[in-house]
Amino acid sequence: MKTRFSLLTVCCFIFLPSAALAQKTAIKAGHLIDTATSTVTHNQIVLVELNPQTGRSTILEIGPNVAIPADAEVVDLSDQWVFGGLVDAHDHLAITYKETPENWNYYQTVIMDSTPLRAIQAMSTGFQKLASGFTIVRDLGNNALYADTAIRQAIEMGWVPGPTIINSGIIIGAFGGQFYETPEMEDTVYPEYLNADTNDEIVKAIRRNIHYGAKVIKVCVDCQAYPYTVDQLKLFVSEAANAGQKVSGHVQTREGARRAIEAGLWSLDHDNAMDEELHKMMAAKGIWRVGTETPKADFMRPTSDERWERRVAMLRDAYNQGVKLAFSTDADYYIPGLTRGELTVEFIRTWLAAGIPDAEILKVMTTNGYEISELQNSRGPIQVGFAADLIATAENPLEDINAIRDVRFVMKNGMVFKKDGVVAPLGFFHNGPVYGWRKR
Ligand SMILES: [Zn+2]
Repeated sequence: MKTRFSLLTVCCFIFLPSAALAQKTAIKAGHLIDTATSTVTHNQIVLVELNPQTGRSTILEIGPNVAIPADAEVVDLSDQWVFGGLVDAHDHLAITYKETPENWNYYQTVIMDSTPLRAIQAMSTGFQKLASGFTIVRDLGNNALYADTAIRQAIEMGWVPGPTIINSGIIIGAFGGQFYETPEMEDTVYPEYLNADTNDEIVKAIRRNIHYGAKVIKVCVDCQAYPYTVDQLKLFVSEAANAGQKVSGHVQTREGARRAIEAGLWSLDHDNAMDEELHKMMAAKGIWRVGTETPKADFMRPTSDERWERRVAMLRDAYNQGVKLAFSTDADYYIPGLTRGELTVEFIRTWLAAGIPDAEILKVMTTNGYEISELQNSRGPIQVGFAADLIATAENPLEDINAIRDVRFVMKNGMVFKKDGVVAPLGFFHNGPVYGWRKR
């Protein structure tokens, strides 16, 4: 079932009174999946609590004989497969390319859409992703002037529902970022990119991002003819580490990827340059592969047969070599008929084409996603003491990952966001701070 909602509807529910008492929900999980081990326990009860005053949710108990408190709301998923939320390790919530069929135009968005408008777009995109079961998104730049921080904070405060966001702030790059400017319009690069060419500029750019709310640093390693050196990339890593953060690197050339590996970046994003030798180095150093593996399909952006075959072969090679894999999309464009969440799910096509087992794909989309987001000790796994994010499907995704095409239920941070395949109208909600939506 497709999920439809409008921004106007969302905004109508942002300011509602909240109850002071903690809200408990008991979920009857017919088949509870541990995605880390691909094991299933049956007929479990997951008791969760949301404190509307703190905005914190907690899984209180899990087991077959958990006593259900009299005041708890009961959600019956006894015929469904329940597991932790999905993760997209690379997207851009505050951008949808403005395009014609012949021209995917990035510059137009940058010039035409203000930061406030793009923050609202990020909220809409977050809704769409959450409706498809994505409870965590790494939002890696191209968010104008920190629209990503704004939407992350709004979600964390409970103003709007959405995925937990690990955001990068502004992408840091050598002069020009990912743009190819004219001398007359040299400033177009900002705020999509922070130019940082010297060591001082690199340090300042990292600190600026962290100051304005970034949770991970994104560097464009080799977007220009003058890529960063290994020493410069090591400076990125050490300066980010000084604030407890990791560095994700956009790489598009083999040499850029090699340098990024040598410097010890946290993740390499995009699969353009990946090959067997680089995979071996990445596996040895435990570097995440965030391949953003675009599927080949009639409705998708065109991909040549050669590119597609190489993409699939390299994903298979990375899997076989034991590279740490994250599910990721870079799906920052509009495909008619699909929400951003539905578009995100389509990327499983590439993983299936690579022959990766369904249970492994599910593990990559969940367990690995929690780890690359560095949330694995607090959010993601369905464990006592963790935040209450969980989703459910009618069919078993361990046997057929296509089951996630129809996410029937989504709980985010202890609130029911989607139930019976429909994004929840207000009636499903506790009186809490403002997770809500209804159709008009
Ligand atoms: Zn990207």
